[in-house]
This record gives sequence, C-alpha cells and structure tokens, in this order.
Amino acid sequence: MPPLIDLHTHSTYSDGTLSPRELISAAAQRGLQALALTDHDTMAGIGEAVEQGKLCDVAILPGLEISAHHQTLSIHILGYGVNRNAVLLKKTLQNIQDARHTRNMKIFERLSRFAPSLSYEQLPQKEYGQIGRPHIAKLLVDQGIVRSENEAFARFLKKNAAAYVQREILPVEIAIETIVQAGGLAIMAHPGSLAVSQGVLATLIKQFHDKGLSGVEVYHPLHSEKNILFLEKVCHNQMLLMTGGSDFHGRGRDKASLGEYGNQQPVPFTLFEKLTEQIPISHEHDSHR
Ligand code: AMP
Ligand code: ZN
Ligand code: FE
Ligand code: FE
Repeated sequence: MPPLIDLHTHSTYSDGTLSPRELISAAAQRGLQALALTDHDTMAGIGEAVEQGKLCDVAILPGLEISAHHQTLSIHILGYGVNRNAVLLKKTLQNIQDARHTRNMKIFERLSRFAPSLSYEQLPQKEYGQIGRPHIAKLLVDQGIVRSENEAFARFLKKNAAAYVQREILPVEIAIETIVQAGGLAIMAHPGSLAVSQGVLATLIKQFHDKGLSGVEVYHPLHSEKNILFLEKVCHNQMLLMTGGSDFHGRGRDKASLGEYGNQQPVPFTLFEKLTEQIPISHEHDSHR
C-alpha cells in the first residue's frame, strides 16, 4: 500500500480543534508520511508544525488557505511551499487579521442592542490564530444570551441576521498573486462547493490559470464522484496539478479522517510527488526577503 498523505488540514491557529503538535502526532499515529498544514489566512502554526514533523518523522509542507471571492462567489485558494516570511504575504495576512478585528468590534456594537452586558474584552484573546464568529457564538452561549451556538448564528450571526457584518475578502487574483510572489503554488480549493455549472467552472479555472493558478483540489470530502471525474478531466486538459486532502478540522468536526478524502479513500500519494516536484525549495530556513 502506498504511503498516506494529506494536503489540506486545519489547526487551532484557524478553526481546527487540534494544535499543530497534536495534529501532526495524530497524523504520525495514522501512519501519514507527509502533511500540509493549510490554516485559513494564517501561517502562524507552520513553525510548530515543522518542529513536530521532525520529531514524528512526518514531512511538513508549509501551506495556507486564503478566503477569496470572484464577483459573488466565495472561493478558497490553497498555497503550498509558501515562504511565510515573504514581505507581501506577511503584509497581506496582517491586513486580513486587522480587518477581522475591526469586523468583530462592529459585530459587538450591533450585539449591544440585544445584550447590553456584553463587552468586547470578554471575547477570548488567543495569543495566536484568529477569532471569528464561532468564538462570538460560544461567548453568547456562555453568557446565557442564547441556548446554543446554532441559535447564536440563527438569531444574530448568520448572513443577514441582526448582528451580521460582512467580512472583507480578497479578490481571487490577489490571493493567487500573494501566494506566487511568496514562492508558492496556488491551488483552487474544493471547486465542488461552488454552485455553478461545469461549463462556468471550467471557464473560471482557465481564467485563474492565466493569472497564475497552478492546480485544482480534486479530491475533497465535499466532492461527488461526478465532481472528481470532471475536475480530473479539466486538470488533464489544462495541464494543471491535482491536489487533495481531508480538510480535517479536528475532533468531532471532521468530514473525513486524516489521509482520506471521504469514504475511506486514501489521498493518492502521487499528488504529493507531483506537487513537491514543482515546489522549488524549502523556504523554512530562508531569511526575510
Ligand atoms: P467567520 O470566519 O468569522 O466568518 O466564521 C466562519 C465560521 O463560522 C465557519 O467556518 C463556520 O465554522 C461557522 N459558521 C458559519 N455559519 C454558521 C452557521 N449558520 N451555523 C453554525 N456555524 C456557522
Ligand atoms: Zn475551516
Ligand atoms: Fe475551504
Ligand atoms: Fe479548509
């Protein structure tokens, strides 16, 4: 049996439940040989992941998953082999974190009408990673304002609800450019999540390919067999790389186990080989540039 790999995982530095250390230990226990940590809009967990990878003998690909949009479509762009010290990337990620902070404060302003006792200081200030609506939902439960996190979203936090504030997200082209300028490969994440026809999707992928996209995430728990066959064909026709992973978010939140993309299907090892052929060098010990 070929070795197990996973190219799409999240840790506590974004919205996962396991720290990078715990995640990589779990991966080692499952027998994974390589793993990419792809937290949302941050590379703050990569250092810890690389250290733990050395201890557990799991190869770590430095990655991230940038939330972006194209017109009204919400599109995630994965970056692999990214130099987390690259100047433009650092600046862009810092801007995203600052925008989150501003947005959280606006959400609290709106919530104050319904929950006057609530104050921004009550929001857990993690020393790392990002704070978002799930943390606010938990606070509303802890304060007895709602009975469940679901209720918090339904009444206050979901789109168009009373305290909803739109989050600023980057255009896809900028997300791709940021990754490419940091020496990484840009990959379109789980295109099966987009509510568009196959024809529109193929055109979009072509358009992003022209802007520097290197590949498409073909193997993902959200994808049907039909999605997979179609995306394999698109990648073949457009000579794009294929990637895949579990999109693991940790205990109780995972749609697939580490190393699998659903239905106990192992993520093909060849994806990792093809990907690392294209990633020129490890940037892990590079100085700032
Ligand atoms: P944020 O990045 O702050 O906009 O929060 C997005 C996260 O909130 C998602 O990753 C989900 O985990 C969670 N979320 C979004 N919508 C809902 C919902 N309707 N019910 C429960 N959780 C949600
Ligand atoms: Zn996530
Ligand atoms: Fe995603
Ligand atoms: Fe993800």
